[in-house]
Amino acid sequence: MTAAEMRLELRPAQVYVAVYDRLPHPSLGPVQEFVLEVGITANRPVVLTDVVWRVFDRNDHVAFVRQRVGEVAMNELTAGQYGVAPGLGLALRRCYFLEQGLLPLSKVRVSVAGFDYETRGIVSAAGEVPLVYHQQRARLRLPVAEGVWWAITGNDWTSLHKAEPISWPFAYDFVRLGPEGRTFSGSGLANEDHYSFGQPVVAPAGGKVVAVRDDLPDQPPGQPMDPALLQEDPTRVAGNVVVIAHGYGEFSYLAHLQQGSVRVRQGQRVRQGQVVAAVGNSGQSPGPHLHYHLQNGPNLFVDQGLPVLFSDFTAVGDVVEQASIPARMIVSPAR
Ligand SMILES: [Zn+2]
Repeated sequence: MTAAEMRLELRPAQVYVAVYDRLPHPSLGPVQEFVLEVGITANRPVVLTDVVWRVFDRNDHVAFVRQRVGEVAMNELTAGQYGVAPGLGLALRRCYFLEQGLLPLSKVRVSVAGFDYETRGIVSAAGEVPLVYHQQRARLRLPVAEGVWWAITGNDWTSLHKAEPISWPFAYDFVRLGPEGRTFSGSGLANEDHYSFGQPVVAPAGGKVVAVRDDLPDQPPGQPMDPALLQEDPTRVAGNVVVIAHGYGEFSYLAHLQQGSVRVRQGQRVRQGQVVAAVGNSGQSPGPHLHYHLQNGPNLFVDQGLPVLFSDFTAVGDVVEQASIPARMIVSPAR
């Protein structure tokens, strides 16, 4: 019997790297981050034993290596599912890298080894994807008009957003803080208790509205949305949305907007700072907040998310000219 055959598919087909070098991020010093998924298929059952990621610089030298070797390490990586079953395959989700330094990177190569119990042999496969950097053209301001906002997830660090490596690995979630530094008053059980709810959402830069959704209900805080709605259309996870094209392949995606609050229509031109909707709690959202990310096209889960640089905001007492915002930072639009 010949050895089993194993194949790898890496997603996305090219991986954007974000560079954080302008504000203090959770790791000391400048950092770079990216995330990818590895899909593994085999024609016979294979048990994975090793995964090695090699990340290369632009001179084709290995910049760094990460490896998981042996069944215990594989177990951690895939939560106990490290057998590749024919027809089902196995996904290594959220292969996440947060690395020190600014050395420009060029590609990541993934090598996988496994054990084929039928032939008692080792099988292996490898694949690689380019790592790319985006030079942002749009000068983006915060997508809110006023007030103090907490970036509960920022443009860095591992977060739930990293579990979806195509469109929103670099997404932000903003919540408004009240005068006492909390996100809601009262019990918080009603959307209206939350300082974010109903706050104006503004166009971060000028452009043309390319997509709008306005009909999904606001969920009561803490209540998941109807799974049937999601099954019909997975993009409803984002709730009500406004998508704005800024040109040069940069699209702002504003999500979880309040039902009925969208003030713009598809095809309309908007200027920077124009109110387009209100913060809501539609879609799969644990409480009122504004989700924001930048994409290289209009379609969620098809087009790719880009790292974001915001301009003209205040953070830690200073006006910041342009930077990405670390998770947990408190920011306000600058006048
Ligand atoms: Zn979000």
